[in-house]
Amino acid sequence: MISYQLRQREYLLQISRAMTSRLDLPSLLRLILTSAADLVSAEAGLIALRRGQAPTLSIQASYGIPVGLLPRFAPLLTDFPVQAEQYALPDLQARLNLVAHTIRLPLRQVVALPLITQERLLGVIYLFRGGSTAFSANDENVLASFADQAAIAVRNAQLYQQVSSEKRQLDAIIEHSADGVMILDPELRIQVFNRALSQLTGWPAEQAIGRPCYQVLALENVTGRNLCGVEPGMIDFPAGAPVTAEGRLTRPGGSRIELSLTFSPLFDDEGRLVNVIANVVDITRFREAEEMKSTFVSVISHELKTPVALIKGYASTLAREDARWDQATVSEGLQVIGEESDRLNALINNLLDASRIQAGAFTLERGDVALPRLAASVVEGFRSQTDKHSFVLDFPPEFPPVFGDEERLRQVLNNLVSNAIKYAPQGGEIRVGGWSGEQQATVYVADQGIGIPAGEQGKLFQRFYRVDSSLRRSTQGAGLGLYLCRSIVEAHGGRIWLRSEPGKGTTVLLTLPVTDQTVSTQRVPR
Ligand code: ATP
Ligand code: MG
Repeated sequence: MISYQLRQREYLLQISRAMTSRLDLPSLLRLILTSAADLVSAEAGLIALRRGQAPTLSIQASYGIPVGLLPRFAPLLTDFPVQAEQYALPDLQARLNLVAHTIRLPLRQVVALPLITQERLLGVIYLFRGGSTAFSANDENVLASFADQAAIAVRNAQLYQQVSSEKRQLDAIIEHSADGVMILDPELRIQVFNRALSQLTGWPAEQAIGRPCYQVLALENVTGRNLCGVEPGMIDFPAGAPVTAEGRLTRPGGSRIELSLTFSPLFDDEGRLVNVIANVVDITRFREAEEMKSTFVSVISHELKTPVALIKGYASTLAREDARWDQATVSEGLQVIGEESDRLNALINNLLDASRIQAGAFTLERGDVALPRLAASVVEGFRSQTDKHSFVLDFPPEFPPVFGDEERLRQVLNNLVSNAIKYAPQGGEIRVGGWSGEQQATVYVADQGIGIPAGEQGKLFQRFYRVDSSLRRSTQGAGLGLYLCRSIVEAHGGRIWLRSEPGKGTTVLLTLPVTDQTVSTQRVPR
């Protein structure tokens, strides 16, 4: 008997070691159940755990009972008090008899061991025997100390499970966050680098992780406090609050973006810095919008001031009561006033159009437009304004009508021809022509002017963009003309582009859809 008990103790020690090293809950529960059954030669058993504060337990592991029969054990699992010390099931045996009767299994003896830690009932281990031998006092003693060990192991595994599922959730949140997120160690080396940040910076996570943050986020033009740029020993968070910085990043491919970074510290209980968490947001568009706003203000104020000053100057000169002006001076003054008012009016209209396009409220009234006639009329309007330039119209005789808004297309040609004049100050030939295909017509305006450097050509269709040259300062313009041209042509379903060679000249080309003769009768005429 003694040696049996000794063996039992030894076995108990062995399994409690095995239990504490196991963190995977299902396999731990299986180990507990088979060991407990083994300890007291039980033929079957169950472990049921409590979920939250519910008074009903749910079966998590079974031994010696067909799985299909498990739901029938429900009577054993109900009416548990929330407080662990009140745990007791005085009618346990009666409940078992009921269950055994309905499932026709020869289970006669039952013992129930509460799993209690920190005064909380985690669950219950049930062990069953089929024969007539009841569980002895010694069995119950051995099982009671076993249950204490098992309860600790179960609690550990539950906590581990909870922590790892919370970590998985957190990892998923970070990984799928729309903003760039990275976690740095106290040495400012990257530990976590999420997907959005990879896309933003062009660095694959596996290459960024482990590197010092200043290598990956090598910012230029920094404002604020860029922690990536400081020595690890110099990191400080005044009053523990996050610090922010903005700067420009050149990505591996060479493109540039503007980033805003917020660094938040994570301290341990002793106040030591454990991690720095950095949120990274792409503010390129915001910066562009800011720049656009300041360009807008400077361009527009300049463009408005010039004609207003001229109008004001001529008007006050002509209004002087102490002077008598001859007719020629008066009409020259009035002509300037008239021209400058037209210029102001055109600028205001361009601004209104640009803001309509921005607001998406730009509509076309389309009909059949004869481009050769329209081009001739535009050119006629400019002939009187220059004697340095000669104009050539170059359309084939059979040029089909395009399906477009005539006034808008006049605006396009007006701007292109006005550019051709403005940016060819030495004069030369200005050629307006085109050709047509089955579906679309191509129109061009070519000059022999100063041309456009290759690096600038892509930017001219942006709002307010003007090439920085001496000519820019001496010619008037808000940088809206080509932007409006592009918007109008694209609203027609066409495309606009240019070819240019500095010093030789520029050709702007655009395409427009040709009116489909088979359906044109159905269209509302202008
Ligand atoms: P706005 O048309 O609003 O009066 P703008 O003529 O300066 O002003 P855009 O027509 O949009 O503006 O042209 C933008 C810039 O592109 C010009 O400032 C100029 O630098 C350049 N550009 C346009 N057309 C030509 C051209 N034919 N030759 C050389 N440079 C050109
Ligand atoms: Mg222009």
